[in-house]
Order: sequence, then structure tokens, then C-alpha cells
Amino acid sequence: MKKAEKIWNDSQKYIPGGVNSPVRAYKSVGRKPLIIKQGKGCYIFDQEGRSYLDFVNSWGPLILGHSPKPVVKAIRKQLKKGTSFGAATEVEMQLAKLIVKNIDFIDQIRFVSSGTEAVMSALRLARGFTGREKIIKFSGCYHGHVDSLLVNAGSGLLTFSEDISEASSKGIPKGTAQDTLSLPLGDLAIVERALEQYKDQVAAIIIEPLPANSGLLKQDTSFLQGLRDLCDQHKSLLIFDEVISGFRLGFSGFAGKYGIAPDIVTYGKIIGGGLPVGAFASRKEIMQELAPIGGVYQAGTLSGNPLAMRSGLMTLETLLKNNGYKKLSNLGQKLKKEFNKKIALILEKKNFIINLVQEDSIFWMSFSNDKNSEAPSQAEQIAAEGAVIYQKLFKNLLKYGVHLAPSSYEVGFLSTAMTNQEIEFFISSLKKAINSLE
Ligand code: PLP
Repeated sequence: MKKAEKIWNDSQKYIPGGVNSPVRAYKSVGRKPLIIKQGKGCYIFDQEGRSYLDFVNSWGPLILGHSPKPVVKAIRKQLKKGTSFGAATEVEMQLAKLIVKNIDFIDQIRFVSSGTEAVMSALRLARGFTGREKIIKFSGCYHGHVDSLLVNAGSGLLTFSEDISEASSKGIPKGTAQDTLSLPLGDLAIVERALEQYKDQVAAIIIEPLPANSGLLKQDTSFLQGLRDLCDQHKSLLIFDEVISGFRLGFSGFAGKYGIAPDIVTYGKIIGGGLPVGAFASRKEIMQELAPIGGVYQAGTLSGNPLAMRSGLMTLETLLKNNGYKKLSNLGQKLKKEFNKKIALILEKKNFIINLVQEDSIFWMSFSNDKNSEAPSQAEQIAAEGAVIYQKLFKNLLKYGVHLAPSSYEVGFLSTAMTNQEIEFFISSLKKAINSLE
């Protein structure tokens, strides 16, 4: 038996489903997962030593690619001094200062250990600050596995009857789900109606400003600006969940790029440079509600962990120093150009189309049998056949040495370890993979 097979068999024996996060099981692409041994630059290597050009990048954190030298060096240096103190350190202050000084709508930031924890804490803070309980979210946006946010819109959307909030996981109390209103993306009128119906009850509206968890569902900036205005009008807080887009669409994320300031922002992924870090940030008036100053309790044994802080600090400093965002944006444009030039043409002979949705260094392929369809902007518009086509394409691409996310709903991430050459390799592999579909 090959070593990878043995590892996978044992993993399934000792870990539920063999994985510590569901999508890693490759269920939706219908094959066993790769067992990864190592990563270097823009490549990952499986247990058998095969290499793959990696567009997953640990689901976003590895914006500099795998084991970038400056980050590894910084972690090593810290390792010698100690891995955790559970006490105030200089490095956590340095990371906080770098972020706060470069993002103008926040005065203070608090570090936690994951994106989920960041969102959970941001909701508690919003509720504590406003003294209100309800939260509005949007279907198609994912905010981690926080109880109150694993909620889908139910059938009562138009009337806001009781079944508007259906938990999308077992184990979530009805009462918790009922405080979450899940609305469709892009429809300001419905948001306005919800705020009127639940007058003075909505603590916050939370949104991924660039929704990147059900494909890449680009929104009109007028929708996001509309949410900002409605929040001001109704004295609710606007939370941008920038766990994916933060430090990726430029240092100040979506908010900075488009000039729409949320009241609270949540970060994760890149902020830890591959080590577990999340954060939430806001202006001083709101952050002062947190313990030990205010009455909103929030804590963590490993929060601000020095190893993770070093990794995050060096990642962000390297991006800024090496003009990383310009490079990533150029790579994204190169991808779009090559796709339009080389892939669009071969699709003319196929019975499906692919719309490549791309923003800076994030991309997603939207599949449809309807040759005239455009890229979706709501989760409900995603064509079901996409998952079927993607499954075959994913497997073909693995054969050619390209690793995309093992689900048609997940986006791809570029890293600064990539060059034009890797983009060209991807496009030529994609062309072969499409041509060899039966
Ligand atoms: N928010 C968004 C937008 C995310 O994409 C994710 C995870 O992918 C989370 C929150 C949760 O982050 P984590 O997986 O670090 O808990």
C-alpha cells in the first residue's frame, strides 16, 4: 500500500471524515484528497513527491506563496525566544501599529486566532455597543462557523414571517437562528424593509463586501454604499467581513480600495501569514466597549501569539516593501487576458461556457450550459451543472500538475511567488484539460 493511501485510511479512522475542515475531503470533486507533504513558492508536493502549481494557497493566507524566506526566518528567530507567553509583547503592538497606521477608518485592533473567532467577537461587540440583538446577513456569504451566521434565508423572505431564518447546520438553537435575518445580495429595498420591520432591533449588517465563498459574486458598489447609508439612518453598525479580501485587494482591503468605510472590520488569513490569526478592528469609541475597559467580554489564551504575530508582521511588511500588490494586480490582469485570448476560443466548440470572474489576485470560473449567461452576482444564480463540469476539469488539471480548490464554489488565489510563466502554464493546462473532457 502506498504511504499516502495508508495515511488517508488512518486519518479516516482517527479524524471524522479524515479531515479537520470539511472541504479538504474532496467530496465534491469525487476523489481522494491529496496528502500534502511540503510547499515551496507556488508549488505543493504530495506524499509521492508529485508537484502541483497551487491556486489554493491554504485558502488565501499564503499571499507570498509557500514558506517564503523572510517569513520563515522571522518565525525561526522568534522560536528561539519562546512560542507563547500569554502576556503583552512588542511584536503584537508592532503588527497592530502597522495596520492601524495604514487603514484610516480604524483606531484599534484586537487579535484572535481565526476568522470565525474574529466574526463572533465582532458580533458580540456590535450587540454590546448598540444594545440590540438582531443581525442581518446575506445568503451566499460565509462568515465562519459562528452559530448565528450558519443561517440561510427561509421561505418567508417577502413577508419576513417567522421562517426567514433557517439554520443551515444541525446543533444551532432556534432562538439563535431567529436573531439572524438572511437576505439576498444586491437588493437594497429588501434590506430597507427589514430595517423598518425590525426598527431599532438590528445591531449590525454583516457582509463580505466581495463575496468569495459561493464563487466570486461581485456586487455593485452602489449596493455597498446603500448599506452604509441605511446603517447610518437606522443607527445599526456595518461590519465588513474582510477575512478573504483584507490585505489582498491592497493593504486596506475592499474598504480602502472602494472608499466605503465599515464600522467594524474583521480580518483573518493573510494577517497571520499562514499561522492562525484573526482580528477585528474599529474606531476607538467602539473598541473601548471591550474588556478590560468596557463590558463586552472577549479573551484568548493564544491571542496575539508571538510566532503568529511575527509571521503576520513579516508577511505584511514584505508585501509593502516589494510592491506586492502591484505585482498581484498585474498577474490577475495577465490571467484575465490569457483566458480571454486562449480559452474563450476553444469554448466556442463546447456546449458550455466559462465566465472568468477576477479581481486583483482572486479568481473564479463560473460554468454554465447557457451560452449567453453572465457571471452571477447572487448565490441563487449559480448554475447547478457547474459542479459537474468542474469535477471533471479538476481531475484533469491535477494530471497536468495544477491544483485548484476541490470545489466549484471556491475561488482561486494568486501569490507573489507566481510569475507570468505560471499563469501561462495554467492557461495551457486549462486548455488541455478542457479539450480532454468527454
Ligand atoms: N469569514 C470569511 C469571509 C471567510 O472566508 C472565512 C473562512 O474562509 C471565515 C470568515 C472564517 O475564517 P476561519 O476559517 O479562519 O475561521
